[in-house]
Amino acid sequence: AAAAVLVVAAFAPRRSLRERRAERNAEANRPPLGSITAEALAAAVSDPLVIFDRQGTVIHVNGACAVAFPGLSVGTSLPLRFRAPEMQEMIAKALAHGQPLSIDYSEKVPVERFFRVSASPVGDGGDWFVMIFKDQSEIRRIDRMRADFIANASHELRTPLASVAGFIETLRGPAKNDPAAREQFLQIMQTQTVRMARLIDDLLSLSRLEMKPYLDPAERVDLRPLIEGVMDALRPLAEESGVRIEADLGSDPLVVAGSRDELIQVFENLLENACKYGRSGGLVEVSVNRAGQENGIDVSVLDHGPGIPEEHIPRLTERFYRVDVETSRGQKGTGLGLAIVKHILTRHKARLSVSSRPGEGATFTVHFPPAVG
Ligand code: ADP
Repeated sequence: AAAAVLVVAAFAPRRSLRERRAERNAEANRPPLGSITAEALAAAVSDPLVIFDRQGTVIHVNGACAVAFPGLSVGTSLPLRFRAPEMQEMIAKALAHGQPLSIDYSEKVPVERFFRVSASPVGDGGDWFVMIFKDQSEIRRIDRMRADFIANASHELRTPLASVAGFIETLRGPAKNDPAAREQFLQIMQTQTVRMARLIDDLLSLSRLEMKPYLDPAERVDLRPLIEGVMDALRPLAEESGVRIEADLGSDPLVVAGSRDELIQVFENLLENACKYGRSGGLVEVSVNRAGQENGIDVSVLDHGPGIPEEHIPRLTERFYRVDVETSRGQKGTGLGLAIVKHILTRHKARLSVSSRPGEGATFTVHFPPAVG
C-alpha cells in the first residue's frame, strides 16, 4: 500500500507555487458563507422550495415554487393549503420532532402531478423549516407508458399464441383423422406464426432504434434511388392488392442527411400502408416537393382509399394505435409501423404530416430539413 501511495504521489500533477498562492488568495478574499441570504440560496434551488415557521406559515417561496404553486405565498398556512392526510402528517411530524421526512404526494388539479416532498428543519433552533418538492410527473408518465407498452405487446402476442395452441389441441383431438380440417388449421397456424414473427421484428426494430440514439451526421442519402428501390420491392404486394404505384421524383438528386437503412424502413412502411389500406383506390402516388434548398425536401405518399377520420390522425403514430383493429390484423398489421416511422424521422430531424378526406384517400408527407454541409 505504501508503495502504491508513493507511485500515486509521484504521478500526481504538481501545482506550482504560483497556483497555490493564487488559491490561498482566492480563499482569503472569498466572503464568508454566512453572508449568503436564505432568499439567495432558495432562489438557486431549481425545485419548488418553501420556508415556513413553527406555526406552519409560509415565510418565503422561491421562484420555482411561485411557478409550480401560484396560490402559495408568504402568509399561507401550509396545513390549510395541503389538505391531503399524508401532507398534514408530514408537516405535523416535521414541526413536532424536527426530523427530516419525505413522502410521495400527488395533485389532480389543474393537471395530474406527482411529487416527492421532503420537509426538514433549518439549523438547530427549531424556528425555520424548509419543504422541497421534486416533480416526479415525467418519470411516472414514462413508467406508465412502459407498463402500457409491455401489456399491449404481451396481449398482441398472446392472441395468436392462444389461437395456435387451440388448433394444436384440436389437431391432436377431434380433428386427428380429418385431413381437410388439418390442412385448413395448419394454414391458419402458419398465418398466426407469421403475425407473431412480424410483431417481434417490429418490436426489435423499435428497441434497436431506442438503443442507438445518434445518427452519423455526415451520412448522406439520395432519396430518388432509395424510393425507387422500395417501390420495386413492394411491386408484388401492390400487384396482389390490385394497386399501381406511380412516382414523380424529378430527375435531380434528392439528397438528405440520414441513414439509408432507416429511411428505407420509413418509405416501406408508408408505401405498404398506402397499398394495404388504400387498395380500393387502385392508385398510389409518390411525389416530391422541393421548396428551395433552404426549406428542405417534402416527399408525399398519396392513396385514393377510404382515408382516415380526422379524430384518429393525431394518434396514428402511437404504438399499437389502429383506426380499425380487425382491418389492420387482416392486413397483417402490427400497429407499430407508423410508430417506427415517427421514431426514425425524429432522429432525422424530419417530420411526418398526415392529411385525409374520408372517402377520398390519405396523404402522408415527410418533411426533411435541408442537408447542411
Ligand atoms: P399497422 O401495422 O396496423 O398498419 P401502422 O402504425 O402502420 O400499423 O398504422 C396504424 C394505423 O393507421 C393502421 O392500422 C390504419 O388504421 C391507419 N392507416 C395507416 N395508413 C393508412 C392509409 N394510407 N389509409 C388509411 N388508414 C391508414
